[in-house]
Amino acid sequence: MSGEHVDAVVVGSGFGGSVAAYRLAEAGKSVVVLERGRDYPPGSFARTPAEMSRAFWDPAEQLYGLFDVWSFRGFDSVVSSGLGGGSLIYANVLLRKDEHWFVNEEALPGGGYESWPVTRADLDPHYDAVESMLGATPYPLDHPAFASTPKTHAMQDAAAELGLDWQLPPLAVSFAPRTEAEPGLGLPLAPSTYGNLHGAPRVTCRLCGECNIGCNDGAKNSLDHTYLSAAKHHGADVRVLHEVQAIRPRPEGGYEVDFVVHDPEQATRKPPRHTMSCDRLVLAAGTYGTSYLLLRDRERFPGLSDTLGTRFSGNGDLLTFLMRPRTAPASGRSTPARARSSPARSGCPTTSTVPPDVGGAPTSRTAATRTSSAGCSKGPTSPMRSPAWRASRSSGSARSSRTLRRPAPPRRSRS
Ligand SMILES: Cc1cc2nc3c(=O)[nH]c(=O)nc-3n(C[C@H](O)[C@H](O)[C@H](O)COP(=O)(O)OP(=O)(O)OC[C@H]3O[C@@H](n4cnc5c(N)ncnc54)[C@H](O)[C@@H]3O)c2cc1C
Ligand code: SF4
Repeated sequence: MSGEHVDAVVVGSGFGGSVAAYRLAEAGKSVVVLERGRDYPPGSFARTPAEMSRAFWDPAEQLYGLFDVWSFRGFDSVVSSGLGGGSLIYANVLLRKDEHWFVNEEALPGGGYESWPVTRADLDPHYDAVESMLGATPYPLDHPAFASTPKTHAMQDAAAELGLDWQLPPLAVSFAPRTEAEPGLGLPLAPSTYGNLHGAPRVTCRLCGECNIGCNDGAKNSLDHTYLSAAKHHGADVRVLHEVQAIRPRPEGGYEVDFVVHDPEQATRKPPRHTMSCDRLVLAAGTYGTSYLLLRDRERFPGLSDTLGTRFSGNGDLLTFLMRPRTAPASGRSTPARARSSPARSGCPTTSTVPPDVGGAPTSRTAATRTSSAGCSKGPTSPMRSPAWRASRSSGSARSSRTLRRPAPPRRSRS
């Protein structure tokens, strides 16, 4: 039986969960957010090779770190495990979906395309709200401290060479200490009206280029600093290291949620299970986490579609590394090898101190934007190169026990 009962339980604290938690709490509902990962105040993200080798999520191996690697046949993914979800490691690029893409890809039998149930116009007010909350702003290339970022200029040059448009996309990064103030490097950030759940000082972006392994300066306007802090301000109970393991509907209405509480200091393979109940259950554990929970308990949800867990795809980004960029004699700029019209050719000069994520000046190919953004994490500290990552890539590795083959059998345990 469940002990605690609340209006809403939100599973996961990424983009979906944090916005839902904020809106529900703002509406006066009692809300509990159950996030499996830790919280990461500024300064707490792993940096040394030793720290990075343990920065993986695998409680069965007493690992409670940021990076969760899922392996499928022919398809591997890295997702985040921490308070703020993917916002802790994403590339900060906030693009609105093109209004022409609100159709189904498959042509209808009689010709034409089926429209989505929502339009871009329906979503625009919500985009406005999110951009405001996340402080979306273009990279301030016209300000002295940010004007000479080689990556941005290399992208400009490449776009010019290819005859493509380029633009500075909105980024959820604080470049200025407050709205309307002049941008500058490493300036103390003004506190927000809803406070900050970490209670730690933040500074503006200092162009370190470490966005994909967590911002130790608090310059990224990640969800912990924004929506989750606002949710907490409105009374949401935000709990970290709480991993949901099972969900089920209650006969009398609402849901029961089973979860374990991890304690990294006293790691145990089988922490005790707890149960709570709620009127509304928001599953926001990410593409894999939510699908996993539903597949695992699918017999309890007979209305679920058979297509659950099928038709996955990557998001079109590619990780690329550019070694030994040359300097173009004419411009004097550091530039990658001759531009080609493939997204995989874009990248950032590793010899510069340009941030991989904040300095992107994409061409009109938006996929290329984050291709280069995500690919330039500092080599030695990139999670892709850590011993744990390499171990996970080799067959029969210690992490292979976490491999999920689709469809997941009901009740299969990952931890
Ligand atoms: C390197 C990288 C760069 C990216 N760059 C961009 C970008 O620039 N722009 C962009 O728009 N998108 C970007 N993305 C994609 C974006 O981060 C994701 O689309 C987004 O995070 C998905 O949000 P979500 O709420 O569905 O899940 P997530 O943000 O992944 O959040 C899910 C949360 O649920 C938690 N969770 C999972 N299972 C459980 C459980 N059983 N119990 C409790 N908690 C659980 C996880 O720990 C996590 O915190 C990037 C992604 C990556 C990996
Ligand atoms: S470059 Fe990225 S990680 Fe570094 S301070 Fe700026 S936002 Fe943070």
